[in-house]
Amino acid sequence: PYVKAMEVVDRPKVTFDDIGGLEEQKRELYEAIILPLKKPELFRELGIEPPKGVLLYGPPGCGKTLLAKAVASMTNATFIRVVASEFVHKYVGEGARIVREVFKLARRKAPSIIFIDEIDAIAAKRIDLGTSGEREIQRTLMQLLAELDGFDPLGDVKVIAATNRIDILDPALLRPGRFDRLIYVPPPDEKGRLEIFRIHTRRMKLGEDVDLAYLAKITEGATGADIRAIVMEAGYNALRAGRRVVMMEDFLAAVEKVMKKRRRPYATMP
Ligand code: ATP
Repeated sequence: PYVKAMEVVDRPKVTFDDIGGLEEQKRELYEAIILPLKKPELFRELGIEPPKGVLLYGPPGCGKTLLAKAVASMTNATFIRVVASEFVHKYVGEGARIVREVFKLARRKAPSIIFIDEIDAIAAKRIDLGTSGEREIQRTLMQLLAELDGFDPLGDVKVIAATNRIDILDPALLRPGRFDRLIYVPPPDEKGRLEIFRIHTRRMKLGEDVDLAYLAKITEGATGADIRAIVMEAGYNALRAGRRVVMMEDFLAAVEKVMKKRRRPYATMP
């Protein structure tokens, strides 16, 4: 049953070109993961060790999963995704075993990227371990730390974790040799939003009046996921109006609808 806890996508097809903005984050991931996987000898020669694990943090919907998938696809690595909160809610009592299985699978299918989403669910600092549920979460985390400590930073298994709640993480996780590279993935700025609009409308038939730069300007606070929702909604508006192309008014109505749900922009993190 634990196999269901992981989603194995042998070769995701997303690349950095499918991700708007985040130039700095792409560069960091290139140096921390792509280059060491492709050219470990460079690191050996120089005598430097790449990080074993990278932690992506920031508000939901801004591209953490997308970045991890792109890294896997650009290195031809197997992508194994686990959602840590499912250890707590769905696979109670099996967390440590699943972690072991995930690393075993990753070694067998190497090169691999293990992506652990919502890692805060098993890695929050906690004061007391009173309940059996808490002890079980603790065991899952211990197993993860043991796996991380046990492997070679220049080997061909890499771990990327993601969280929206870096503030509650157990510092043990961030020690050298574990998740020692932290990368903040922020909501897009205006330029990033424009790129994301371009990416998500690539296959769409747009009316002549559609002004993506203007849409990027009026969507302050929108995440990448919001922009994807706006584009889809605009498409549906055109469909309902019986149009063959998507017009600016379809986008404006979609912006209205999607941005209304987002009560306030995400606070910017440090
Ligand atoms: P969560 O914390 O909710 O898992 P996340 O940061 O992992 O969020 P993703 O799952 O990567 O977010 O993003 C959700 C969707 O939003 C993506 O599949 C993509 O369609 C769109 N998206 C988000 N950010 C971007 C971006 N920078 N460029 C293009 N599309 C984006």
